[in-house]
Amino acid sequence: NQQILLDNRPAGEAVAGNFKLVSNETPALQDGQVLVRHHFLSLDPYMRGRMNDSKSYAAPQPLGQVMQGGTVGEVVESRSPKFQPGDKVVGMGGWQQYSVVNAGQPGALRKVDTTHVPLSHYLGAVGMPGVTAWYGLVKIIEPQAGQTVVVSAATGAVGSAFAALAKARGCRAVGIAGGPDKCKYAVEELGFDACIDYKLHNDAASLSAALEGACPKGIDGYFENVGGMVLDAVLPRMNDFGRIALCGMIAGYDGKPLPLSHPALILTARLKLQGFIVSEHMEVWPEALKELGTLVGTGKLRPRESVAQGIEAAPEAFLGLLKGKNFGKQLVKLI
Ligand code: NDP
Repeated sequence: NQQILLDNRPAGEAVAGNFKLVSNETPALQDGQVLVRHHFLSLDPYMRGRMNDSKSYAAPQPLGQVMQGGTVGEVVESRSPKFQPGDKVVGMGGWQQYSVVNAGQPGALRKVDTTHVPLSHYLGAVGMPGVTAWYGLVKIIEPQAGQTVVVSAATGAVGSAFAALAKARGCRAVGIAGGPDKCKYAVEELGFDACIDYKLHNDAASLSAALEGACPKGIDGYFENVGGMVLDAVLPRMNDFGRIALCGMIAGYDGKPLPLSHPALILTARLKLQGFIVSEHMEVWPEALKELGTLVGTGKLRPRESVAQGIEAAPEAFLGLLKGKNFGKQLVKLI
């Protein structure tokens, strides 16, 4: 069983040397346990926060242990009546080829149906990132038909579920993404009404002017994934009583400061700005997953994936994700 451990903590930017590839035997199963062979690992921005030894909403990743993370795979051996060999499952198996799971632990392993939804999408649009988009849009932005909603990192795992959900609620959906290919894909495949390439703009004022063109009636709801210049550009375009779902600030995860030029706009426009952690809202997951599964199953949402091959490729793929090299949900394929 090849595994990737967190070997040491980053000083500033995360580097490949923070990780270590090792090989171990999988332990024999005890009663109630199952052995899962992972098909895909999920790489997610939150893992960067856990590499630090600082207080955050999630406990730090312990040193010398397998990097934690979401996985999908197949049960290959079972000593639990709840799972049979061949079951397709989603869990938190970590950066390794196999995991031994206590099947009785609530939420540890969930069977999934791959008839209409490919297994890997349970780590993306029909998994945690999709539910994240759903929660921020539906519960925080609370959009009304005819309103304009905007998302940053629009083609990423979270952002790519946003347009389909917003269009289903009668909204104008505008994306912000890095580069012409991502913007073209956002409009042509994901269903955004417009997508702004922030890399064409050197400062917030210029990006803000481009947003004005794409959002002629202003912005009623903003789903923030990035922070920094992008948030600075969006704030002046927010309509009175607009809502901002603060989901992530990836531009600052490697330690860069994220200045905000005009915070008083939050007051003058009477905005609601709310941060949230999707795992604290398990009550919405069934409803959200049902809608997302239907969107994917009916072809209304066709999420793209960036797939790295083999466990040894995980660290570089993860570092690339933090720099926007991924185009769609970042996965590592193991078999
Ligand atoms: P993505 O698949 O969107 O990948 C990250 C994307 O962020 C990159 O592709 C890139 O897109 C963009 N990006 C990276 N670095 C920068 C930068 N310096 N400036 C601007 N954009 C950058 O990741 P996810 O969809 O998994 O996550 C998106 C956000 O949601 C993250 O901030 C994450 O932490 C957050 N999140 C929060 C959760 C919660 O519960 N609050 C749950 C899940 C995710 P581009 O090339 O377009 O810039």
